[in-house]
Amino acid sequence: MSEMNYNELAELLFSEITLTPEDYEKIYPPRQLKEGAKVTRIAPSPTGFMHLGNLFGAITDERLAHQSGGVFYLRIEDTDLKRAVEGGVETIIRVFNQFGLNFDEGATLEGDNGDYGPYRQRQREKIYKAYAKHLVKEGLAYPCFCTEDDLSAMREKQEAQKLNPGYYGEFAVCRHLTMEQIKANIEAGKPYVLRLRSPGNPENRIRHTDLIKGNIEMPENDQDIVILKADGIPTYHFAHVVDDHLMRTNVVVRGEEWLATLPIHLQLFRVLGLKPPKYAHTAQLMKMDGNSKRKLSKRKDPELSLDFYDEQGYCVPAVVEYLLTLLNSNFEEWRLANPTKPYTEFPFNTKKMSVSGSLFDLQKLQDVSKNVISVMSGEEVYQLVIEWAKKYDEQLYRLFTADEQKAVAILSIGRGGKKPRKDLTVWGDVKPYVSFFYDELFAMQDGYPEKMDKAEVQTVLQTYLDTYTEQPDNSSWFNWICQMAASLGYAPSTKEYKANPDAFKGQPGDITMVLRVAICGRHNAPDLFEVMSIMGKEQVDARLRAAIAAL
Ligand code: GLU
Repeated sequence: MSEMNYNELAELLFSEITLTPEDYEKIYPPRQLKEGAKVTRIAPSPTGFMHLGNLFGAITDERLAHQSGGVFYLRIEDTDLKRAVEGGVETIIRVFNQFGLNFDEGATLEGDNGDYGPYRQRQREKIYKAYAKHLVKEGLAYPCFCTEDDLSAMREKQEAQKLNPGYYGEFAVCRHLTMEQIKANIEAGKPYVLRLRSPGNPENRIRHTDLIKGNIEMPENDQDIVILKADGIPTYHFAHVVDDHLMRTNVVVRGEEWLATLPIHLQLFRVLGLKPPKYAHTAQLMKMDGNSKRKLSKRKDPELSLDFYDEQGYCVPAVVEYLLTLLNSNFEEWRLANPTKPYTEFPFNTKKMSVSGSLFDLQKLQDVSKNVISVMSGEEVYQLVIEWAKKYDEQLYRLFTADEQKAVAILSIGRGGKKPRKDLTVWGDVKPYVSFFYDELFAMQDGYPEKMDKAEVQTVLQTYLDTYTEQPDNSSWFNWICQMAASLGYAPSTKEYKANPDAFKGQPGDITMVLRVAICGRHNAPDLFEVMSIMGKEQVDARLRAAIAAL
């Protein structure tokens, strides 16, 4: 067999490719960033389904890049047309924007932004081919004409002999095709893929230090993996190596499902003469199912989909905050010590990431959410609520935006102090919480105190209606209530009532309860004086009159 002329083969396969890897090195030079700056990316496929894992990784990437003065970019991995859906790219961009993740460069709704693009793999075909051509020239890649039938016959043989499956060693028959055979096949129009001529030997072990998993040893790759498919489109393995190199990524954060193929990736970097990035393989998100842990599943767990959080009205800062508690084991401790600092001040560290799997717990997210919302200002809550309501609750949106000042005042009740109210977990809680402020939503949910008959309730309400004079603040209002209580035969204070319960009809708390039920329709409501101040005299009086009429 004559010595193969690899240059000739490269020209035969890639006559249209004129640029070389050296040319691309010049087009995409190393980034000028300060020492230690991390360049990270997320590289989702446009499948239309955005899951928690995407966000989990993205937060990691964003933090690593931005806390080091680096770059965080978005690359669209659309090489697999079977998985790509119409509008998939828009979904990716929209959802990440929703979660407040800002990309420095990459795919955007308007096109691409940045000097290292195109950022959509389908537009990079020529670049991959330049690197593939280079490998062919070096004798490190070759065309393979094996059909599906050939490959299944190979697998059967390997199974029967209990050998490792795959295209390698003696099974890699197309490794040995002559130039004449290749030419003949191409002339006959036979489809082919391009395979790596793997220089690996599984007897050798490779060592790798993963930023999350630590030191790892694995057998070297010896599979002649496909690098370009029959349509000339690269596989994930090849595309990500070329892209992460040319886009000058220095830390690749991705799910641990990619760990098994890491030897392939490291080998590709080596045969291309390129320095691999650092890798951080993130552990799976798990949940408790009864007494056992399992992976979150698309079919069983609606909370895996990022749309779930939007629909339910989870607030973005809460979801991010909760994911940070899962991402870094010391985040919660830091948060306790720094309750009001933005999370961007937390020193994010891959060493604090779980190696074995993070337990996702919706209940815990809800607790975090309550806390996060409780320390927001009324104005902040208002903005987030109307944004959500615009999409999911037209009535609430209308009521809130019709009188912004009133809505902000309502949402500001009980905020700002040491022990803020925690009534809201998701934006869906807002409407039932505020409903009594709006006549169109108001409903009598709870009854008056049982020990008071209708006549007595009427007396209390009518007296208040007839005699109340405006008070400047909460404590003078309550003093006024105590006086009114005394005038109706109630104790003027709880203390006096407790000392001598038989001498009185009740205590001031009974009066405020009657008022609360008439005005709010429920026993459990925020501070009544504040409620009435927001409602204003007209609405309060109308409520009292309506309550009397309904007795
Ligand atoms: N496109 C791959 C995925 O969606 C990305 C993996 C990576 O980040 O390298 O899983």
